[in-house]
Amino acid sequence: MLNLGTLLEISASRHTHLCPRQVLGVRIGLVGAAALDIEIPQKRKRLLTIVESDGCFADGVEVATGCTIGHRTLRMEDYGKIAATFIDTKTGRALRVAPSLNVRERAYAYCSEEKRHYFAQLQAYQIMPIDELVFIEEVHLTTPIAEIVSRAGVRVNCAICGEEIINEREICQDNQMLCKGCGGTAYYQKVEPTIVNWSSPVSEKVLA
Ligand SMILES: [Zn+2]
Ligand SMILES: [Zn+2]
Repeated sequence: MLNLGTLLEISASRHTHLCPRQVLGVRIGLVGAAALDIEIPQKRKRLLTIVESDGCFADGVEVATGCTIGHRTLRMEDYGKIAATFIDTKTGRALRVAPSLNVRERAYAYCSEEKRHYFAQLQAYQIMPIDELVFIEEVHLTTPIAEIVSRAGVRVNCAICGEEIINEREICQDNQMLCKGCGGTAYYQKVEPTIVNWSSPVSEKVLA
């Protein structure tokens, strides 16, 4: 297993900086997997992680756990929170890990000579004992793991737009299989005209 310093280096190399949120991400990733007794960074797909925000925190979690979007082992539920739930897909056990509610205040006890808040947190979060830094709660997923993971190779076409839907993300309405876009839970709305004219100096460069 890689040590904290190496993991923080890897995380920081994805950014131009190391920040307190990356430190929290790495340490929360480490403790989540340890509490489930799963070896990380994982080579397989036993650990599924759901982060509650994107950004630096998520990169820290990803580097520590080896869970990635590409491997379908990392998901985001955007609650705008520094927190993550770690799921052992073999046993079904799920643990949610978040920073202690007063973690910023607690940090000063570990870095009293540093007066700048940001740097005090940056340093303290690396050395604080885990039970000072975070709390861990046993949780029960509202969507069954099998449904989150879904089955490989399942595909249907949307009855309205005709586009293919994988991972059992279709919704059934009036006996029709619809994509979320057509079924009313879309994150976008179509505008007229729907066909985009994308020819431009930039597109010529990008597509050259
Ligand atoms: Zn950052
Ligand atoms: Zn559709």
